[in-house]
Amino acid sequence: PRHAPNTNADIISLDRQHVFHSWSQQGQLNPMAIAGAEGCRMWDFEGRQYLDFSSQLVNTNIGHQNPKVIAAIKAQAETLVTVAPAHANQARGEAAKRILARAPAGFSKVFFTNAGADANENAIRMARSFTGRDKILSAYRSYHGNTGAAIVATGDPRRVPNEFARGHAHFFNPYLYRSDFWASHEEEECQRALQHLRRVIECEGPEAIAAILLETIPGTAGILIPPQGYLDGVRALADEFGILLIFDEVMAGFGRTGSWFAFDLFNVKPDLITFAKGVNSGYVPAGGVIVSEAISHYFDDHMFYGGLTYSGHPLAMAAIVATLDTMEAHNIVDNAATIGNGVLATGLQHISQKHAIVGETRGVGVFHALELVEDRQTRTPLAADKMNQLKASLISKGLLPFIAANRIHVVPPCIVTEAEVQEGLSLIDQALGEIA
Ligand code: PLP
Repeated sequence: PRHAPNTNADIISLDRQHVFHSWSQQGQLNPMAIAGAEGCRMWDFEGRQYLDFSSQLVNTNIGHQNPKVIAAIKAQAETLVTVAPAHANQARGEAAKRILARAPAGFSKVFFTNAGADANENAIRMARSFTGRDKILSAYRSYHGNTGAAIVATGDPRRVPNEFARGHAHFFNPYLYRSDFWASHEEEECQRALQHLRRVIECEGPEAIAAILLETIPGTAGILIPPQGYLDGVRALADEFGILLIFDEVMAGFGRTGSWFAFDLFNVKPDLITFAKGVNSGYVPAGGVIVSEAISHYFDDHMFYGGLTYSGHPLAMAAIVATLDTMEAHNIVDNAATIGNGVLATGLQHISQKHAIVGETRGVGVFHALELVEDRQTRTPLAADKMNQLKASLISKGLLPFIAANRIHVVPPCIVTEAEVQEGLSLIDQALGEIA
């Protein structure tokens, strides 16, 4: 029998020999070995513990190794571990029902995918089919996933309805701290960003545009809270030109902002909602599209040209059911709001006042960013070598951070406690002091 390797070096060596990693030059990797996790903590093979302030890729909203979710996955495995998507299965029906119960009025169906990227692929496909138009507008400061070629490479006839001659155009979204509109306050940023979007729509040809795809709160791009009125303005432009509005809630959804969906905070309703990550905290990969009544009704007698072998995989669905029920029963979304808008936000403000290296802190719920700069006047982003130094320092102190460009994204699980927030903030405070 094989002996389980049990040192960090064994695991890292196994990985480096055989595993090809995402978004990396393979020769320059230095992965951490993770042996186990629970709640907001993880540990390596030598007993070193880390406080997880990353929620991995901002997905373990319910925390690590939730016993209710694990039990539900085990029970589903014993009952029906896999099934083709064409069959009706209970777990998928129950998962869809629970997701719709949290969506606003006017949404009636859920299409399940394996993750966030294919959720966006399918929302785009629905929007194109529904409108008969093909262009998709999205923001420069955004991330929507990394697929894009498989159906066009496909040879069989399912390719044909998916071959769109024209594709994508981008616009600048509001970001007052680094305004692309020379704005000096939020209202100005908002008005100018909306005027710019109107011009992009006019120049791209409204009759050619199927949808505007927008992260409700851009996440990887920097946790950019839209100014008051922006999302309403986008909704109004979409309505004026007969364009659908897709909100990508993959990162912001399912508790991250202290509400079930980020758009709940803005009172704006999209036509399609994409989700993944927090819906079951990634215990089994899952994503999907929440479809409005009008679009869902259209597909009652129009073919939907999309599908996946594992759409609604029973293990993923059982994990969704247990995750949402547990989040509800334990008020986990409320916890994200209370802790996130309380001790976490206050602590980050305090850190930003203390360290000149912090240019701006922003966020909501357990979805915050510290934007680091060389100089507060020029706002020059903190140099990459200093960011690397900071990351290494945080890890050596026992904090697992989410670092993106010149920012620390402070994104612990939604179950984080006040004590864990204080502990994490104290480590960030120390590490920033050393860099400055
Ligand atoms: N949309 C957003 C807003 C995301 O943050 C991500 C991933 O980080 C995706 C889509 C893609 O999701 P996935 O990596 O599950 O395909």
